[in-house]
Amino acid sequence: MTRGGIAEPVPSVSEESRSSQRQKGSVARILNEDTPLTPANKAAKLSSDASEKGDLSMPAKVDMDKIVSLCKRRGLIFPSSEIYGGLASCWDYGPMGVELKRNVKDAWWKAIIHERDDVVGLDTSIMMHPGVWAASGHIDSFTDPLVECKSCHLRWRADTIEGKGCPKCGGELTEPRMFNLMFKTSMGPVEEEASTVYLRPETAQGIFVNFDNVITTSRKKLPLGIAQIGKSFRNEITPGNFIFRTREFEHMELEYFVKPGTDEKWLDYWVKERFDWYAKLGIRKENLRLRQHGKDELAHYARDCYDVEYLFPMGWSELEGIANRGDFDLIQHAKHSGRELSYYDAEAGEKYVPYVIEPSAGVDRSVLAFLIDAYDEEEVEGEKRTLLHLHRSLAPIKVAVLPLSRNEKLTPLAKEVFNKLCPNFVTDYDDSQSIGRRYRRQDEIGTPFCVTIDFESLEDKQVTIRDRDSLAQIRVPIEGLDKILEAKLKGEAFDASPLWATREKK
Ligand code: ATP
Repeated sequence: MTRGGIAEPVPSVSEESRSSQRQKGSVARILNEDTPLTPANKAAKLSSDASEKGDLSMPAKVDMDKIVSLCKRRGLIFPSSEIYGGLASCWDYGPMGVELKRNVKDAWWKAIIHERDDVVGLDTSIMMHPGVWAASGHIDSFTDPLVECKSCHLRWRADTIEGKGCPKCGGELTEPRMFNLMFKTSMGPVEEEASTVYLRPETAQGIFVNFDNVITTSRKKLPLGIAQIGKSFRNEITPGNFIFRTREFEHMELEYFVKPGTDEKWLDYWVKERFDWYAKLGIRKENLRLRQHGKDELAHYARDCYDVEYLFPMGWSELEGIANRGDFDLIQHAKHSGRELSYYDAEAGEKYVPYVIEPSAGVDRSVLAFLIDAYDEEEVEGEKRTLLHLHRSLAPIKVAVLPLSRNEKLTPLAKEVFNKLCPNFVTDYDDSQSIGRRYRRQDEIGTPFCVTIDFESLEDKQVTIRDRDSLAQIRVPIEGLDKILEAKLKGEAFDASPLWATREKK
């Protein structure tokens, strides 16, 4: 990470110590992959797992530096304001990164909204009435304990450090003081008259304050979910580990409103749904686990909470939290706004304040987990090949059209193929450098299929499709190329023996 400019020094140890601290607590409940999630067995099963599996740290498959370097090299993620020396914990998504990030958000939106009839979407503003944050408890409670080293003046989150001294220089630390993580700004053109507003630290409150609007306009009954994706801001004391913890990031949040009494059932349901979502998109199950929050660890609004954790290079860390928020938020907003926020169940003839189950995920943290899990290095004919085994739906580019060389005879046909494919798939066209280098580039950004146009193509009107993972190749007519790619991108098997050996020898 490049630091400097106006950026403050950022200690780098934070996440490791934070995750190990958590695991040490006797309160952590670790579920293994096949623990059935039913209320009946939950308590017994979880507590017995906790002691045996409190520390599952394994050697990381890839270190973070390799991921950061690949991201820079291939236009996925750049340090923000790099030409000015960068700004701590801020990152920019490059041409490939923005596609990957959009695909992650689209996959979430599809699974949460489009493939169901009980969830609707929303897009609320980042700045909200300050009363929202008083009601939600963020002004009083969204704080971390901060200590400062009296010698080197580095600042630390008190709950993430072990021992008494500064982790950097061993110097004496100040007493902890509570530090509010919300960013403040002023609204209005005249500074003295401007009012203080906050940049939202979560998107959830935009959903709660619109509960009534959505219920009265959507003609939906409970259980009903309202979901949104958007930027959140937290003035984290110790950001770090690339895009794992930053001060500006994107949330994907669902607030699922249910009848009180059915909340535990729905919590179980959503924990399983969300765990499976990561697995369906290619994350290996052995790198995922669930952790139930202990009673003393629960946020002020939560009745129960599970984290989906991923085995990041710095250890097991939270990927997503799924909380039972009870009726805390609707009650608070009703109290502070004076507006009634309840639901009338016409069939049962009763009125109640719904409970809320909240799966809350980070877009950037998910992107990081998908990248890490997809990263692979292998040897092909004595040469190292780096590749991303990204799920087809997440890969930034689906198909790369690669004429064997930049040649006046090949170019028109290659362009014709590109023009045929690009309305249907995100397609790249590349005719510079050797074909081997171009394959390597596509492998490193996780492109599932390369289509090669060679001199035989001019005669037989056929092209070669190369599969990223197996390196198998098949020759197909240009005529039906789009249909074949469509089927393969939907998961149809790539039915050919690996031909890279023969191809290399040609
Ligand atoms: P953590 O314990 O890691 O600080 P949290 O419990 O405060 O996270 P939530 O408020 O539950 O996080 O937010 C839900 C998700 O949002 C997290 O699981 C994570 O994926 C993402 N997230 C939270 N804070 C950050 C951050 N500073 N940078 C990037 N992603 C974040």
